[in-house]
Amino acid sequence: MKHIKVVYLPTMTNTEISEIKDLLSTPQNIVIIPHRNPDGDAIGSSLALYHFLKYSHNVTIVSPNDYPDFLKWMPSEKNAIRLFDKQNSQSKKALENASIVFLLDFNALHRLGKDMEKTVEKFEGTFIMIDHHQQPDAIAKYTYSDTSICSTCQMVYHFFEKLNAVDKVDADIATCLYTGIMTDTGSFRFPSTTSTTHRIIADLIDKGANNAEIHNNIYDTNSYSRLQLLGRALSNLKVETEYRTAYITLSQAELDEFNFQKGDTEGVVNYALSLDGVVFAAIFIEDVEQKIIKMSLRSKGSFSVNQFARNHFNGGGHDNAAGGRSETSLDETIENFLSLLPTYKAELASSDED
Ligand code: 5GP
Ligand code: MN
Repeated sequence: MKHIKVVYLPTMTNTEISEIKDLLSTPQNIVIIPHRNPDGDAIGSSLALYHFLKYSHNVTIVSPNDYPDFLKWMPSEKNAIRLFDKQNSQSKKALENASIVFLLDFNALHRLGKDMEKTVEKFEGTFIMIDHHQQPDAIAKYTYSDTSICSTCQMVYHFFEKLNAVDKVDADIATCLYTGIMTDTGSFRFPSTTSTTHRIIADLIDKGANNAEIHNNIYDTNSYSRLQLLGRALSNLKVETEYRTAYITLSQAELDEFNFQKGDTEGVVNYALSLDGVVFAAIFIEDVEQKIIKMSLRSKGSFSVNQFARNHFNGGGHDNAAGGRSETSLDETIENFLSLLPTYKAELASSDED
């Protein structure tokens, strides 16, 4: 099928693109880095780029830590990805030898965690960042940042377009890009999903992404204990009607009770947001090992959870999906969260009116 021309907002100039083309015209040692606790978009974009570059370059993906089991079917994930925390010397070696480092799906080096941040900071070659989060730090020589795009995977597709290389997208690359676009758009339902997104998705299916199989691999592989944990999360759901807010808590004891595995709580916060009338949702998850409460925040309309997370919980993300953390106990975190709501009452009241 012929490639469909799509419209996008370029934030890389033509000069930058031709410099990148020049850089990639000779074999390079390349490392691709997704953010810590990588999701479908982070791993999907990293693997897509890996498959795109692997024929001409020596490419390694270095992930700060492990990725969820529901991604452990993606093309070449086992061979291509090194875990910085568990395969530390191999990871460091790849970084030492690299001439180009791609930073995918994150906007600041602290998103890698302290250890990896320290190593990556020392890199003296060329950084290329492709990301859709707000307010990217000025780290990279080349930054392609567009917060209006639903996923880094869609941006990687646009990046291939900019390089005039969409014809190189094969079934593996298409599968990886499809996965990240699907997971970051909540299966094509969040407002960031555009007609362009759907055109790209159509092209990826034409290029060999098996859409039904991908949905099945990601969503229909629940364990019994994961569903039980979801049951507990839903019974812990609380609503603050006055503030159009709903939140869920999961203590470490509850996670342990249901044999919590990485990725098990992915998407749970969306149940809170799905309540009629609710425009702000949060999930608070206790992590005893890291001594933090990790939170995921979601909103509908103009209320910015990115701003809320930045202001109060040492985090950030997008306007309608962000994350943060607190170093106090679960109870204290909730108390603090509830005490903040009155300040935002007017904003929450009008959040879905525009
Ligand atoms: P999630 O709630 O699914 O973990 O994350 C939602 C969005 O917020 C994602 O785009 C994620 O990258 C971003 N995010 C999550 N946690 C943090 C954080 O601690 N800091 C920042 N800056 N962004 C985060
Ligand atoms: Mn993303």
